[in-house]
Amino acid sequence: MKKILVCGAGGFIGGHLVNRLKSEGFWVRGVDIKQNEFGNNNADEFILGDLRDTAIVERSVEKIDEIYQLAADMGGAGYIFTGENDANVMHNSALCNINIVQAAVKSGVKKIFYSSSACIYPEYNQLEPGNPKCNESSVYPAAPDSEYGWEKLFSERLYFAYSRNYGIEVRVARFHNIFGPQGTWTGGKEKVPAAMCRKISEVPDGGLIEVWGDGKQTRSFLYIDECIEGVRRFMDSDFSGPVNIGSDEMIAINDFAQMVIAISGKKIKIKNIQGPTGVRGRNSDNHLIKEKLNWAPSQPLRAGMEKTYYWIDKQVAQHKK
Ligand code: NAD
Repeated sequence: MKKILVCGAGGFIGGHLVNRLKSEGFWVRGVDIKQNEFGNNNADEFILGDLRDTAIVERSVEKIDEIYQLAADMGGAGYIFTGENDANVMHNSALCNINIVQAAVKSGVKKIFYSSSACIYPEYNQLEPGNPKCNESSVYPAAPDSEYGWEKLFSERLYFAYSRNYGIEVRVARFHNIFGPQGTWTGGKEKVPAAMCRKISEVPDGGLIEVWGDGKQTRSFLYIDECIEGVRRFMDSDFSGPVNIGSDEMIAINDFAQMVIAISGKKIKIKNIQGPTGVRGRNSDNHLIKEKLNWAPSQPLRAGMEKTYYWIDKQVAQHKK
């Protein structure tokens, strides 16, 4: 039986990935600086520890065949784009990646998956809401719009360098806005889908919500189950990437807000205010994943948002008690 390590198992995607790997029969060790706050703790073994610490990393990789590296210091626009967390984001995430890949090679790990991000794509290709360019080869000349994106780009290169020089197999995916139940929904690190659901759940019928920016900025969002499916298919393929794992159903943020309002069944007005928004337009380009894996995400956004809204609505209600 293969032994798998999930770094960042206490997080949103990591918690879901552990469940999937368990359901496939793998032996799974998780490691994270925190337990999963929604009880998604189903690994066979869980190390509560800091991946910036080489002793923790060495313990974590012991007798492991494959690693999924999802640990990162990250959050939504309120965390990434304000500038206040730049040094921590770069320092913490880079240190985790440097430690993990080094220890993986030393202990003979065969394959490692790294979760990069759409945030590595250059800002100059994403200035028009209706026409963003995010195909995998459009990265250079590099100009990510955040230090978070620069760190991701550095770490992508780090994994490929270790692959070239030390022979470890790597898989690098660029996630585009993953959402779903059991994700961060409050506290400042939540991202657009969760923040939107929370705001709409909290406001009474007939009320008003604030949406950052003019609302014309576009994004695409991928439901967690399809993300995990893509990760597993990619890991078991012969392709090392980098490859986008995202939805290509692009939507303007105000239209997205309207979708969630409709799901809630309430009548709510939108007020656009100034706030950190990131690039003007972004959408996953799925040509490469279709070509290499003969698969791409296909579920409609609304289906995933319904499940997510109901879950967050429940959290909001429990929180009030
Ligand atoms: P998350 O914040 O829920 O999970 C990341 C986990 O890493 C957290 O549980 C955190 O405690 C852990 N971590 C951070 N620093 C650590 C350290 N020093 N030692 C041990 N653990 C540490 O985020 P997520 O949404 O599950 O994202 C997983 C990965 O996917 C991240 O690398 C993220 O950058 C990447 N990604 C996510 C999205 C998205 O939309 N969610 C988009 C692009 C890329």
